[in-house]
Amino acid sequence: MRTRFTVSLVVFVALLAGCSQAPEGYSSDSETNQQSQPSPAPLTEAQINQLIRSLPEQKTRDGLRAHYTAIEKAARLLEPFEIEHTAGPTAVPSKVESVVEMFSDKLKMYQFLGLVGLDQDWVIASEKDYAWWVDYRLSQDPGFDVSLWNPEINELGHCRLSAEVFCGAGSAFNGKNYQDNVVGTEFKELSRLDYVSRHEAAHFYQAVFGYGGRCWMAEGQATFFETYLESTSRSRSDVLARLKASPTGIAQASEEEVLNLLTNDQICQSDSDIAYDLGMLGYEYLYLNFSFLDVHNLQVQSSTEGWDKAVVDVLGKDPQELNVALASYIYTESK
Ligand SMILES: [Zn+2]
Repeated sequence: MRTRFTVSLVVFVALLAGCSQAPEGYSSDSETNQQSQPSPAPLTEAQINQLIRSLPEQKTRDGLRAHYTAIEKAARLLEPFEIEHTAGPTAVPSKVESVVEMFSDKLKMYQFLGLVGLDQDWVIASEKDYAWWVDYRLSQDPGFDVSLWNPEINELGHCRLSAEVFCGAGSAFNGKNYQDNVVGTEFKELSRLDYVSRHEAAHFYQAVFGYGGRCWMAEGQATFFETYLESTSRSRSDVLARLKASPTGIAQASEEEVLNLLTNDQICQSDSDIAYDLGMLGYEYLYLNFSFLDVHNLQVQSSTEGWDKAVVDVLGKDPQELNVALASYIYTESK
């Protein structure tokens, strides 16, 4: 167990070698539109306000997907989101740019919630840049834990490096957040990064605004957007299948047990996957019943002032009523 990860929730590891799935990222949309069509005008401020303050037109999962797809589409019309980064000496510039562009695209929609920059120091290195990376990080902070990249087993975080992979790992030292990425010199399957970058973009946004006052919020939100906005992601039924197979037996628990665990914020105990899988259901409930902006405000406030106070202040609800409603939704959907 690497203790450094306990100080940062932004840890990600993506093994992308040997993927066989056909590339089908949303970046291909524009390529299929060969005809020159007038590009849609960016939304007005009033339209954006309306979008982030409204609920899905249909209170169904399809309606939910349509609503967040509309928000994401509106965000695509914004200018690129700046990600400052330092590239390793042997990183392939075109690959570095592609990676940055992909993350930048996924971060755009959080600009509607006030995101203007990342609170992270980014490196994008190649698999051959270990020596450079050690020098670079230590020059920034002599206390930087360079064991994050283990050259003996060739791992960054928990991700095995090679010329074909993309790996990323977040860490925090002395109040500063670092994001270390390796894009392999032979990395090709950029489209496979769609769901990874979608997931991580949620964490980058959370790093600025707060991870939420519940154990399932950070991973739940990241999993929600990954599942709802990216076709390369795990499907909803895959997410639920893993939840149902949780060794904790959470899917067999009674509604009352689910409620108790949620109320005491102990539902993620014993199985770290629960935060992702059950967390996605939690976000389905939240986004079906509250706007993008309200959930953002709930997340911001519950990160610092606790869940109960945030529920009252932001949503104007009795916390226990919300816990009951969440438990009922999660119980029903995980059966
Ligand atoms: Zn995550």
